[in-house]
Amino acid sequence: MPDGSGKKDIKALLPDELAADFQALGLPGYRAGQVFRWLDRGVRAFDEMSDLPKGLRERLDGLYAIPSLTMLRRQVSAKDGTEKYLWALPDGESVETVLMRYKHGSTVCISSQVGCRMGCAFCASTIGGKVRDLTASEMLDEVLRTGLAAGERVDGIVLMGIGEPLDNFDNVLRFLRLVNAPDGANIGMRHISLSTCGLVEAIDKLAALHLQLTLSVSLHAPDDETRARLMPVNAAYGVDALYAACERYFHTTGRRVSFEYAMVRDVNDTPRHADMLIRRLRGTGSHVNLIRLNYVSERGLLPSPEQTVRAFADRLSAGGVTVTVRRRLGSDIDAACGQLRRGRMREP
Ligand code: SF4
Repeated sequence: MPDGSGKKDIKALLPDELAADFQALGLPGYRAGQVFRWLDRGVRAFDEMSDLPKGLRERLDGLYAIPSLTMLRRQVSAKDGTEKYLWALPDGESVETVLMRYKHGSTVCISSQVGCRMGCAFCASTIGGKVRDLTASEMLDEVLRTGLAAGERVDGIVLMGIGEPLDNFDNVLRFLRLVNAPDGANIGMRHISLSTCGLVEAIDKLAALHLQLTLSVSLHAPDDETRARLMPVNAAYGVDALYAACERYFHTTGRRVSFEYAMVRDVNDTPRHADMLIRRLRGTGSHVNLIRLNYVSERGLLPSPEQTVRAFADRLSAGGVTVTVRRRLGSDIDAACGQLRRGRMREP
């Protein structure tokens, strides 16, 4: 994992990999833990690791890079305290992170790619396509720097920002292991939720790892015809294949998949759609999260009226499907994922 300077990205190394590296360098065993903890505190340079001898700091600086994010913009919702950050990556690209406050603690929604190639019709993040994958250490830095900037501990993570996490599988998996490390952020898998637009092979690959995270599938329509209008990925994996993969995921991991459903006016919000969803999900124990679409000016799709969302939820509930209408956090700031980054791209 060398960066542009040819140095190895030290923040992408798992504790045992760092220990093996340091052993090969002839360093005493405790040094790896010491450095790992410094990295978790967000230091940007080896010189800040004040309990390391100067000679060692210089030696490490010659071998390793500490890639770090720099804050470009921060918006705080006056309504509910949700915070949205725009970060510059070391190569000048940018990504967004959102900190949401709940009664049970703070959750950070991170991006996993710069842009996205999935082309969902309602999404601002995909307008310029995918630029590149984020590295594991960049994702980790989203969590660390957001916690530091907000001055609070991060209790949970959702991979639901810019990008399709399963399209960046290896880096995301490494990130999950890093953020889960007891000497690091130490965030338990049960406090992590990963959202996918439905890449079936990758869902199976993830299931085989038996992680105890929550898999959240962006369904957005119960049938191929409607889903194909909203999500090009449906051409590769139709809803039958996707539902089957979700079943396999449950049987392999014991963790039920939850479904995200963005309500788009006159597209997927009719009683007919609710009934199709009921036929698919009744009796499976799966949970549906309804979200009112965030309006994105470039995309031309409108959010369903509130009473339509409520009626849809009531119909699902009466049909035996558990459903939650998601609260819209940060509705007074650029809340939909990709909008802050788009705003920056439009700037002269
Ligand atoms: S909704 Fe998610 S998967 Fe779809 S284009 Fe946007 S970022 Fe990509």
